[in-house]
Amino acid sequence: MTAPKPPAPEIKGYCPGALRPMMSGDGLVVRIRPYNGRLNRMQTQGIAALSERYGNGVIDLSSRANVQLRGVTPDTHAPLIDALRDLSLIDPSETVESRRNILVMPFGETPVEAAALTQALGQPDAPALPHKFGFAIDIGPEPVLQSAPADIRLERDATGGLILVADGMHTGKPVKAQDSIQEALALAQWFMDTRGTHNRMAKLLGDGTPPPAGFTTVRQTQTYGPAPGPTSQGMLAGIAFGHVTAGAFSTLGDIRLTPWRMILIEGVHTPPPLDGLITDPADPLLRITACTGAPACTQGLAPTRPLARALAPHLKPGQTLHISGCAKGCAHPKPAAVTLTATNCGFDLVRNGRAGDTPRQTALTSTDIIKAL
Ligand code: SF4
Repeated sequence: MTAPKPPAPEIKGYCPGALRPMMSGDGLVVRIRPYNGRLNRMQTQGIAALSERYGNGVIDLSSRANVQLRGVTPDTHAPLIDALRDLSLIDPSETVESRRNILVMPFGETPVEAAALTQALGQPDAPALPHKFGFAIDIGPEPVLQSAPADIRLERDATGGLILVADGMHTGKPVKAQDSIQEALALAQWFMDTRGTHNRMAKLLGDGTPPPAGFTTVRQTQTYGPAPGPTSQGMLAGIAFGHVTAGAFSTLGDIRLTPWRMILIEGVHTPPPLDGLITDPADPLLRITACTGAPACTQGLAPTRPLARALAPHLKPGQTLHISGCAKGCAHPKPAAVTLTATNCGFDLVRNGRAGDTPRQTALTSTDIIKAL
């Protein structure tokens, strides 16, 4: 007898925010977007205390360098927001919050362009961008955020000049620092005027839409690969599955967020002994992405993270793995070497594809999976 087909994953049509949280299996998910990709000690301690007081003591780090509190209830949401506002972590409105989708390079001085873009996106006449549309301020000597999702990027070319990049192109437009944010907003407006039904820049350009004039300067290609270890600002450390307890989070001090499920703990060169902190670049857990899964996600058809921990010692050197609680694949929307997708009857295995792609093997148990890896 074949197992019943699981229901198609529900598309909510928006990303959760703090002011517009999303209901999940363990309560509301409240997503905080730290300004300039940083949290100071008072904010990390405050978020941890609020997670324990108004949530379930579980904090997630997202692939867009955001911080999520879980287990919040409709009754505790309003006092939580008031307390987060006191920590300077809340936007003036839902509209501004959803537009302020900015990744900032975690190394070096935080560039003034990050604050300038934040301010510009908060203006009433800023483009009303689609909810996943985002920006990356990546203007160190070499880019480090090219594999992270962003539609408009500020980078440096090989001569050190600033360039504005429309995601999906190999070339960008030279811009002066003082004009760069205005130019970025003009590109965002061009996208809005041109996009038709597209929500993402790379899709629009990939469909053959010619970019605006002047995007002809060759970009640098990223060679940096994120790995735990010391940096000049502090210790870069992985967080297994981006999942950390409030107790551990409260001890981190000043941190910078990254889109790699790693945090940069500022001013620290010896990692604190915390559960779930990954400091060994060879740790196989760094090569596994596992979404929230069941039961905390209502759409999850099976738990994912216990399986991830069980499979970690069996990964081949360099092998990467994505474990998804349903076909939506939200933790890793891109193809992975091996993807395991939960079904009503074990896990399906997809090779070089996404969670919803046609599987190579179906209805696998954990023993089957270990043999198949
Ligand atoms: S992929 Fe995971 S987190 Fe996303 S909806 Fe499915 S079970 Fe939930």
